[in-house]
Amino acid sequence: MILLGSTGSIGVNALAIAERFHLNVDTLVAGRNITLLNQQIQQFSPKRVVVLNPEDIVHVNHPNVHAGEEAILEAIEVSTSDFVVNALVGFAGFRPTLKALDCGKRIALANKESLVVGGAFVDTSRIIPIDSEHFGLWYLNQTPRPISRMLITASGGAFRDWPIEKIQEATLKDALKHPNWSMGQKITIDSASMMNKIFELLEARWLFGAGEYDAIIETKSIIHALIDYQDGSTTAHLANANMQLPIAYALMGKSDEKILPSVNLLEIGSLEFREITSARYPVWEIRKELLLNPARGVVVNAANEAAIELFVEGKITFLDISARVIHAFEHFEQEPKCIEDILYLNNEVRQYIRGLS
Ligand code: NDP
Repeated sequence: MILLGSTGSIGVNALAIAERFHLNVDTLVAGRNITLLNQQIQQFSPKRVVVLNPEDIVHVNHPNVHAGEEAILEAIEVSTSDFVVNALVGFAGFRPTLKALDCGKRIALANKESLVVGGAFVDTSRIIPIDSEHFGLWYLNQTPRPISRMLITASGGAFRDWPIEKIQEATLKDALKHPNWSMGQKITIDSASMMNKIFELLEARWLFGAGEYDAIIETKSIIHALIDYQDGSTTAHLANANMQLPIAYALMGKSDEKILPSVNLLEIGSLEFREITSARYPVWEIRKELLLNPARGVVVNAANEAAIELFVEGKITFLDISARVIHAFEHFEQEPKCIEDILYLNNEVRQYIRGLS
């Protein structure tokens, strides 16, 4: 495989599966964590390595190291592997997704932003999602029946139990305290704002086609997805909160071995479900219009990434992230008609959001 984002939360789990099942790692792509990357190089002996910054090349213990975005695209093109695991975070994952598809490769896609910004221009028939909710939906839908609704669950993120009026004071450290999952910084903030769930609804829309999609909070992250069928039955996918299960399926297509311990319902005792409200998660109010106009995902994603950067830099509050996303969604009404439009809008919206502060 060509593994993009090897030093991140998903990348590390993907390598754990690669090690256990003796999967070949052809190329490693990482950002700034050169210490971990060097350990991975020693263990997996890739043919080529790419890092974010040229100045880091000398610190990488490998004879074939490159740097930068174009080097990622080149690595995808020249590799003889026909399988890309895209675990980059944010818009940085979009062009690599397009490149992999252009080169006729299959993609195990954790980088949900690729579908959020450009789902209309992506051939999803060659994409296997690495996301527990979409894995759950896929798993449930193995025996296709007439569906009335697909439902995914949210943990509720760091502020689900906070008094609503206190969220205004939330710091970066507070936002990073996820109740159930250990993940990268950006997706943890997206979980706290509920942006992540809106992205996943869009992701589901592109992967499974037009239909009815919604989300609810299940506080223990044991149920990941549910399907309501037209006959009145509902099925649910339960698994312990660990990404190695969806990753194993994405990498191998199936698994006859136990990847996780089974869910122990007696130990769990009870499950709690809550409605997602715009009072606690202001950005939730745009989801219906966005699902009706999914091509506008690029605006929402760019505004969200730019606003998160400002929040991390300490320039705006946590709730300002949602306010800026909603504002951008109202301000930029155009839909991209081609990939160049996506690249253009991505830049425009980012500049606009940074200019507001
Ligand atoms: P992390 O922040 O933990 O990891 C991101 C990875 O991408 C790191 O290896 C980072 O390198 C690398 N990277 C970031 N930017 C660049 C760049 N410009 N060039 C090269 N490498 C870069 O994120 P996660 O693993 O949590 O998430 C990855 C994706 O998977 C996201 O889209 C997320 O939404 C999705 N996802 C994550 C889940 C999870 O459980 N974590 C669950 C479902 C989906 P370095 O660290 O070395 O700087």
